[in-house]
Amino acid sequence: MLDHHTVQLLPGKDKPVRNGHPWIFSGAIKSDPKNAAPGDLVDVLDSDRQFIARGYYNPASQIRVRVLTRDPYQMITGDLIKQRMEQSIRRRDYLTKNGTTTGVRLIAHESDLLPGLVVDRYGDWISFQIVTAGIERWRDLIIQTLRDICQPAGMIERSDEAVREKEGLIQRKEVLFGTIPSDGVPFLENKMKLFADIENGHKTGFYLDQRDNRRIVGEYSNGLTILNCFSFTGGFAVAAKQNGAIHVINVDESEPALQVAKRNLDLNQLPHDSDEFVRADVFKYLRELKASGRKFDMVILDPPKFVTSSAQIDRACRGYKDLNLIGMQLLNPGGLLATFSCSGLITRDLFQKVVFGASVDAGAEMQIVRHLSQAEDHPTLLSFPESLYLKGFLLRRL
Ligand code: SAH
Repeated sequence: MLDHHTVQLLPGKDKPVRNGHPWIFSGAIKSDPKNAAPGDLVDVLDSDRQFIARGYYNPASQIRVRVLTRDPYQMITGDLIKQRMEQSIRRRDYLTKNGTTTGVRLIAHESDLLPGLVVDRYGDWISFQIVTAGIERWRDLIIQTLRDICQPAGMIERSDEAVREKEGLIQRKEVLFGTIPSDGVPFLENKMKLFADIENGHKTGFYLDQRDNRRIVGEYSNGLTILNCFSFTGGFAVAAKQNGAIHVINVDESEPALQVAKRNLDLNQLPHDSDEFVRADVFKYLRELKASGRKFDMVILDPPKFVTSSAQIDRACRGYKDLNLIGMQLLNPGGLLATFSCSGLITRDLFQKVVFGASVDAGAEMQIVRHLSQAEDHPTLLSFPESLYLKGFLLRRL
């Protein structure tokens, strides 16, 4: 089903596309196709009208074209979408093979050559999200393919992200089949039992990208008193307590998330009567803790994304600095800080500089013990560095 729309680029704008970058912004385009609807396929031509790529087009979005292939002979068909889905899912087989992990991102949009599509598996359930008009056209095929390959007990669509509106799509949240268990959907992460709130939780229900970091933080947790900021449903708390943490304070502004955190601890037979579950704004609460003189052996800072456009970078850096500064001041000597940024526009270098600035102001000598990143089922396409968004450090206060 190749239609005959073409997009011609301005001189010099073809190089990133030739090198594999999957996005073409409006500013790179010399002539837009006439009458192309959101999601239509287009051939992308360089300024000499040579074919360089094929993808789907959206006049409503600043990202005008999402590239699907650079091979002129490859047609964008249902079979191609199905094949890419299957390959992406099979590439994750090794992660679930030994049965100790059943929560996995099966398809990670551009990084798996399927721009606009995210698919997560939580045990017997599939949660997926479509954020572009181009991939929306394949919705029925996607649902059928997921049914055939994954044979889930239930499936939910969580296309309720605001970014869909930039593509001219309405938000949609729909259980396609199955009945969601009232406690949430159970799944395993490195033997931890967890519930995902796939209906009302953030994103597709859980932050699978932190899997490795929860394991690493767990390894350092024995005997520690831990302040777990932005605790959400307690993933870090379960990992820490399973590894012998003595006391964990979980702080989140969401009461439902704190309740799920308790259920997740219960599920793993981890008593939490002496732990604390604090519904508060972390920025304010950290100041209260500082004033109280309390200290911790480990502080975890895993805030939500602060930046959605480059205009917000400076402000976000001040936010990260503020958090990390107080986080460091709350550490006992020898204490550990696990600090993260999931804002794609903040590079690892910049984040390290911000954390360094915080240590200077805190008067704390800190060493990096581990460099942390997103889990392997959230891969980074080398030609698309934007797909690397989660970075963190495990630091020790000397
Ligand atoms: N660490 C979690 C994921 C954190 S997601 C995990 O491993 O699963 C970010 C969390 O921060 C969300 O639960 C959100 O409710 C919470 N949050 C956002 N802004 C906040 C604020 N200012 N104070 C407290 N919690 C906040």
